[in-house]
Amino acid sequence: DYNDTAEIQALITEMAADWMAAGLDPERSTIFTQSKVPEHAELHLLFSMITPLGWLERVPSYKEQQEQISEVDLGTYGFLGYPLLQTADIVIYKAHWVPVGVDQVAHIELAREVVRRFNFISKTDVFPEPQPKLTEVPKLPGTDGRKMSKSYDNAVYLSDEGEPLRQKIMTMVTDPARKRRNDPGDPDVCPVYDLHRIFSSDEELGWAAQGCRSAEIGCVDCKKVLHKNLSEYLNPIQERRRRLLQNPDTIRDILEEGSRKAREDARKTLDEAKAAMHL
Ligand code: SF4
Repeated sequence: DYNDTAEIQALITEMAADWMAAGLDPERSTIFTQSKVPEHAELHLLFSMITPLGWLERVPSYKEQQEQISEVDLGTYGFLGYPLLQTADIVIYKAHWVPVGVDQVAHIELAREVVRRFNFISKTDVFPEPQPKLTEVPKLPGTDGRKMSKSYDNAVYLSDEGEPLRQKIMTMVTDPARKRRNDPGDPDVCPVYDLHRIFSSDEELGWAAQGCRSAEIGCVDCKKVLHKNLSEYLNPIQERRRRLLQNPDTIRDILEEGSRKAREDARKTLDEAKAAMHL
């Protein structure tokens, strides 16, 4: 949304509320606003000096998103260089592990290559090579079956509830071969079933898989159960989210304090990187 940034402060507050509502504890995790730590941008600049263009053009999401997202012009330098900014975001804190979805593994691989190149050129070992840390659910499908992404407008948000949440689930794409109620389906190619794997019990999984393959259940029945489980999962998060958003000043204070703390560490690493480059 680079062409309309009016909403950005509200989005920052909401995203911080999402994270805390979902369980991040600011006492244990430093939650901060990237743009309040300008060292990220400076390290990004240093990395951009040593990174061959071809490395960035080869990142799979670069072409993929350009093809899939038509409403915004993504032919910008910022979009091409975005994985390099992510590299700076990671290594400025000398992270060893980065919790990511499977689609981000290529970005971590790029970060590793950049780190190797930086350390080689500067004959130092300022940065450790970060590794991806996949969770039990390395890929979450969106409502249209592509990967879940805000940019694809196919995401279920932590704030979705009531009728809009029901609508999103009930209109999800399913096994494309299951055109009519009596056609048997294949849960292994169905994004609804992928979400069942995360949010439903073993018993419900068995019911859905068996009922789908034998056409004993319809997609509507199947989705109703997913919707119930997803609502139950999201309800307590949404409750906490509502409480947090009643005090946006507290959220802003948490981000200010986090940014101040993050900046101390980022400054140290940036100084090391600049010294390594004789700057
Ligand atoms: Fe997907 Fe469930 Fe329909 Fe099978 S019954 S195609 S798993 S929504």
